[in-house]
Amino acid sequence: ATFNRAAFPLTARFLTTHATQVACSNEEPSFLQSVEKYYDHAASLSEVQTHTLAHLRAVDSVLRVTFPIEVENGKYEVIEGYRAQHSRHRLPVKGGIRFSEEVDLQEVEALASLMTYKCAVVDVPFGGAKGGIKIDPSKYTVAQLERITRRYTMELCQKKFIGPGLDVPAPDVGTGPREMAWIMDTYAQFNVGDVNAAACVTGKPLSMGGVRGRNEATGLGVFYGIREFLSYPEVQKKTGLSAEMSDRTVVVQGFGNVGYHAAKFFEEDGAKVVGIGERDCAIYDPNGLNIEDLHKYYRANHTFRGYSSTATILDESTKILEVECDILIPAALERQIGMRNVANIKAKVIGEGANGPVTPDAHEALEASGRIVIPDLLLNAGGVTVSYFEWLKNLSHVRFGRMNKKWDERARSKVVALVEENAGRSLTEAERKAIVHGAEEADLVYSGLEDTMIQACQETRQTANLKKVDFRTAAYVNAIQKIAAVYEGSGMLF
Ligand code: GLU
Repeated sequence: ATFNRAAFPLTARFLTTHATQVACSNEEPSFLQSVEKYYDHAASLSEVQTHTLAHLRAVDSVLRVTFPIEVENGKYEVIEGYRAQHSRHRLPVKGGIRFSEEVDLQEVEALASLMTYKCAVVDVPFGGAKGGIKIDPSKYTVAQLERITRRYTMELCQKKFIGPGLDVPAPDVGTGPREMAWIMDTYAQFNVGDVNAAACVTGKPLSMGGVRGRNEATGLGVFYGIREFLSYPEVQKKTGLSAEMSDRTVVVQGFGNVGYHAAKFFEEDGAKVVGIGERDCAIYDPNGLNIEDLHKYYRANHTFRGYSSTATILDESTKILEVECDILIPAALERQIGMRNVANIKAKVIGEGANGPVTPDAHEALEASGRIVIPDLLLNAGGVTVSYFEWLKNLSHVRFGRMNKKWDERARSKVVALVEENAGRSLTEAERKAIVHGAEEADLVYSGLEDTMIQACQETRQTANLKKVDFRTAAYVNAIQKIAAVYEGSGMLF
């Protein structure tokens, strides 16, 4: 079988078990228990009725499937997959599908719960879900991955755990547009003639109904969110940082879709990205790394080793969390900062690009020592926000910008002139049309994402100030109140 490594989606596939042992003490709660702990604390401050709180906390339903896959001639492997739907107070439920060896029922339940709260924080009218397949994708060929993905999707179809109005997956750790295309195609084959089939999954390639900006959405949202918080005087006072990005130092753990794009947007804005951590090692350069260049190298070599003679390689990758910097963005997996390593963290702002990277005790320790944690359910909600835009685009069957023209002829000509200059030739009418349509859509998506993130940060800040709590608790309180309003407003128990 051909082994097409270069085609693998770049993901932050950390050896969680190891990283978790380095970070967390044995007494610390599991990921699911951590989410429940954060929820319980916020629930007690939320003024929502007890029975609603109890109902909201529980995972609605879970699917566990196993199926055989032929890996070699006559040799089979039994693959294990999950999908958890946490809250169906709004439909469809929404959340990614991850391919990772660490996937288990508890993990998808924790992640599904976070999705419910995340959607509420950014006013995306969905319930929460999450799925996963327990595999290390780098150990399979592209053809095998396609078979696994399609087979898993068949299970979702049969059990009604997928559909534009039911449950809409998206990319997560270990998956990307390629997997979403397989999912959509399989769904469409099971639902011939469904005019809305494209809306059964988001994060698709553009040619299959994807939307511009979805790929970078989570990383861009992380950037918008941190930038917004740094503009608040109380954050500046607590951390000693100003709103000016140009002298900021940033460290990112994870060079997958979220980490790479977050690093890129910070760099573009003038910050200095001094460290990146990945699976086998981390790279550190106090003078700043060139993100695009490093990413090219990483894609080709799957390591930072050998990249530069001036940068330092850290063999123990998690040590990158402990280097001197202003902003630390854990954008890999859960439970990376716990009681074993929290005392060594030097960053003043910890922005959770990943889901659940900081344990509750570590969170307390960080906040108590003058640091700010910007929580996952708010900070990484950019992905699902743009997924919502993609879903709307698919259901409306109309390109953004066609019905609500935003650009005048001058703006259009400017984009075309820029592309023509780069290409060194003039564009045909068809090319010009495609460029303008693409740019209009991207502009609408970016500005919609920016507005959403700013609004959600402001709501979080307001609740934090009102209730005198940290931003995580505030974001949970806001989410709980919004979801409870749907439950209680309906007059029935779901
Ligand atoms: N997997 C992403 C997350 O954890 C995106 C989910 C989505 O777009 O539905 O938020």
